[in-house]
Amino acid sequence: MARCVLARWPFPVLLLAVVSACSGRPATPTPAPAPASTRGGTTPAPAVHAMTVPTLEGYELAVGRGTRTRTGAPGPHYWQQWAEYTLQAELNPVSKRMTGKGTIKYSNRSPDTLRTLYVQLLENIYAPGARHNTNVPWSVEGITLGRVAAQGTDLAAVSGEGPGYEVSGTILRLRLPKPLVPGGTADLAFEWKLRVPPDGAPRGGQDGEVYFMNYWYPQMAVYDDINGWQIDQYFGNAEFYMGYGNYDVSLTVPAGWLVTATGTLQNPDDVLTGQTRARLDSARAGHGIVHVVTDVDREAGRSTTAGKDGKLTWHFRAENVRDVAWAASARYLWDATTAAVGDANGDGKPDSSLIQAFWRPEQRVSHWDESARYAQHSIEFFSKYLWPYPYPHMTAVDGPSSCGGMEYPMMTCIGGQWDTLGMYEVTTHEIGHMWFPMMVGSDEKRFAWMDEGLTQFDQSQSMDDFFKGFDDEARNRKNYLDYSMVASEVELMHHGDRFPSYNAYGVAAYYKPATVLVALRGVLGRDLFHKALVEYIRRWQYKHPSPYDFFETVEDVSGRDLSWFWRTWFFETWRLDQAIDSVSTVGDSLEVEVENRGRAPMPVPLVVTRTDGRADTVTVPVDVWLGGAKRTTVKVAKEPAVKSIEIDPGREFPDVDRDNQRWPR
Ligand SMILES: [Zn+2]
Repeated sequence: MARCVLARWPFPVLLLAVVSACSGRPATPTPAPAPASTRGGTTPAPAVHAMTVPTLEGYELAVGRGTRTRTGAPGPHYWQQWAEYTLQAELNPVSKRMTGKGTIKYSNRSPDTLRTLYVQLLENIYAPGARHNTNVPWSVEGITLGRVAAQGTDLAAVSGEGPGYEVSGTILRLRLPKPLVPGGTADLAFEWKLRVPPDGAPRGGQDGEVYFMNYWYPQMAVYDDINGWQIDQYFGNAEFYMGYGNYDVSLTVPAGWLVTATGTLQNPDDVLTGQTRARLDSARAGHGIVHVVTDVDREAGRSTTAGKDGKLTWHFRAENVRDVAWAASARYLWDATTAAVGDANGDGKPDSSLIQAFWRPEQRVSHWDESARYAQHSIEFFSKYLWPYPYPHMTAVDGPSSCGGMEYPMMTCIGGQWDTLGMYEVTTHEIGHMWFPMMVGSDEKRFAWMDEGLTQFDQSQSMDDFFKGFDDEARNRKNYLDYSMVASEVELMHHGDRFPSYNAYGVAAYYKPATVLVALRGVLGRDLFHKALVEYIRRWQYKHPSPYDFFETVEDVSGRDLSWFWRTWFFETWRLDQAIDSVSTVGDSLEVEVENRGRAPMPVPLVVTRTDGRADTVTVPVDVWLGGAKRTTVKVAKEPAVKSIEIDPGREFPDVDRDNQRWPR
């Protein structure tokens, strides 16, 4: 990869403003002189020397220290932090409040001595006066902290130099009593309470007797080898960057309420009746859908045990996850089955995962009765296409309408009304996120394309498989191309909180990167593309890849320098417009004049179809454009008679004008 180094990555931590994330990059290259031409309009091509990839100092330093590499694999000295959470929470549906307490054992696996730790209090987006860039319900509160302790010492909320803590928005800064040395651990303790946000809160909250509990506990911010602490505020639009850890979670709710959570239920005998356990066992034993809890089972003594004082405590454990969410309701039905996931644990034998759907009866209208089947297909498809699903369950949860679709480890929150296509789409999309970012733990805030773009692409593959040829890639391409014609398109490498509009974010985070991956598949060929994608997962599962680790891995696997591709599609908003300008007969040849009318350089796959039915592809290599040319001549034999010539009839490349790609017109 040809690169040019930025002095710093232009992401000031607390600034919420619409700015160009690439303001620090080298200036847009001076256009090369246009070749002499009398035909057609031409836009000068970027000169070949300009096709470098802006990189960042932190990544270069990480390569120098051996935590990252030039091949895109984690370096020999790669490290990341680790945390063990033990959390207890009690939900009171009458007051709509949750009280929590817990401990975090934080392991410092970095080579640095840490005197300050940062903890995310994401719920503080609801605090009075909190800054946000999406609509959030106003009548809520943030997290109210009770006890905060570290290394056995209770800490006060004071600023200054000594031990203590300060809360700024969604970030808690904790000054340790004793430095945390490399290889050491620090025990933290918290007590807190919060009011569950009502429907209308982004990604979860409460809707009647449904509680989807997200971002409900103090969570360690990520300290990594590129950025150090990543403490960007949670403003609502940009998503998350989370570290990996193990969780032991005890959740107390009224008896008769069903609870589902990230992780495996540890005490089924305490909370589930014999009937519920028997049905769950039969779901685990087969591939059909079992109704574990039906309309007539939803009360204490039938679905759940009677509990003590009208309450039950559900105990879950989750390993190697980047977050824990949970949902509880008195109104849920519970469907379950299994998915075959391949050899997930590496013992050479096939494994399976429990598939569940929790939903309210009135949501049958949104095809929730099909949800378990959709989830089953999605997990099985992605396990084959990407990587075996490693977690013990995958659960689709009917949540508040403002969830839309949102992913959590082993869980989705899906709200709102859906038709069959939409319900499969949102289910498979959120389940696709189990790979990106749940398993491959990228920074969603700064590089939304790394999870949303890859997932949007994967969603298309899943929909094609489920609906037998449904072309979701065409929908993504259209959304990107339509938007690419307006001035406010923003490049992919852009912080998720700094887009001028939600549409600009949506295109740059979802549709364009999904379309760009289809183009990359066109450049590399299906097999090589797939090999690179799987290798990226293999290298970075349960780790924190940066965009450069993705770029370098694709180059390493393919053996190609794709600087021009990354620069064009990730750092710029150049458009692709390849055209057949003219076709003329010269002797026994046809001379096809191919023109690159946009700024994006791409190879030109030219398919020549003859009247005898034969079709050949002649490809103009991208180097022609990288050398500065704007047009080139392709000679093809005149006989047998040529019926048509077309650029990229498979539509792998996102060309803005299809009308000029065919001859005869
Ligand atoms: Zn998504």
